Amino acid sequence: MTATAPITQDVVTIPRKMPEGTVNLVGLTRDAMRDALIAIGTPEKQAKMRVGQIWQWIYQWGVRDFSQMTNLAKDYRAKLAENFVIEIPEVVSKQVSDDGTRKYLVRIAGGHEVEVVYIPEEGRGTLCISSQVGCTLTCSFCHTGTQKLVRNLTAGEIIGQVMMARDDLGEWPKQGAPKDETRLLSNIVLMGMGEPLYNFENVRDAMKIAMDAEGIQLSRRRITLSTSGVVPEIARTAQEIGCQLAVSFHATTNETRNMLVPINKRWNIEELLAALKSYPKVSNSERITFEYVMLNGVNDTDEDARRLIKLIEGIPAKINLIPFNEWPGAPYKRSSNNRIRAFADIIYKAGYASPIRTPRGEDIMAACGQLKSATERERKSRRQIEADAGL
Ligand code: SAH
Ligand code: SF4
Repeated sequence: MTATAPITQDVVTIPRKMPEGTVNLVGLTRDAMRDALIAIGTPEKQAKMRVGQIWQWIYQWGVRDFSQMTNLAKDYRAKLAENFVIEIPEVVSKQVSDDGTRKYLVRIAGGHEVEVVYIPEEGRGTLCISSQVGCTLTCSFCHTGTQKLVRNLTAGEIIGQVMMARDDLGEWPKQGAPKDETRLLSNIVLMGMGEPLYNFENVRDAMKIAMDAEGIQLSRRRITLSTSGVVPEIARTAQEIGCQLAVSFHATTNETRNMLVPINKRWNIEELLAALKSYPKVSNSERITFEYVMLNGVNDTDEDARRLIKLIEGIPAKINLIPFNEWPGAPYKRSSNNRIRAFADIIYKAGYASPIRTPRGEDIMAACGQLKSATERERKSRRQIEADAGL
């Protein structure tokens, strides 16, 4: 770890308890739900079975009302309703792009808002979810990074975004209906607002719920967590979540990466690559996605492409090139299409997949890195953004 100015991270997580003393069951691990049921008088011997039943109602069938949990005794349902709630974030607005992309603004406790984006594709669909309100990191090309206010989302607020999208897509299965294998919401990417590895426990608990075989049932291969490079949490991600990993690489020298992704001043390229090397083996995943935002004249030369190939040697990798999505006041421009293609070509010829990410939902500002809730108006000045970017 290099000794440089620390990156501040004053983040708070609100407790799961509701003000009235009721507990939200959404987001609790199976163990925590068991404890909660025992605390209201459920006999210990029955608790595990009750968790299984309630879990299925909530996560398999999308039920929000205890009275509909018909395999539980009536008085037990009433007791649950007295003590617990099943709550997910509230949708404040929904915008639908010409290309079918849906952007939701959802409200969480405390009146904060985060964005969630659903991207429909042929035979599948990806939900891009947020892990924090804003972000403590200040990547100079990212709109979220200009937002000052930050709070960690609870596990319930994270998995709640998935449940909200399933509500909107009408994708909870009907009891007795044949199992439908095609899913509108088939993939999750933690690429919305926030740095997921600065909210590790909540992200882990939420993703465990998404993967649970008795509920939402998404395979860990269909969940991708994107990190800016929180090195100490990478091994833990492999061990405790085991999902696919994407890393916001974006530069091939420490000098440029320090400017674009300031967390690099804490854990530099060499330290990051060392942590990434063991990820695929430990998590039993195929390869790591290297995200690389294409910024005109900043990180997009042929030399950068060649340096990138050298750096990632020995790591099973795919390089995802992201044309920069501009936002009001952004201090960069997108590289030209020809430049992006030339860059992609060099990487492809070296034997790596190098897809160029098609920006989706641009007309509604839903593309990568454009998210920033309008209600969190307080933001850095343009001068501050430029100073952080070293311009
Ligand atoms: N905090 C995490 C995940 C959220 S950002 C991370 O940084 O990885 C998801 C991806 O969008 C990251 O690769 C990020 O670098 C990229 N991104 C941010 N702003 C962007 C922009 N304006 N244009 C294109 N990609 C952007
Ligand atoms: Fe935060 Fe990721 Fe944006 Fe960087 S790119 S400011 S880590 S959300």
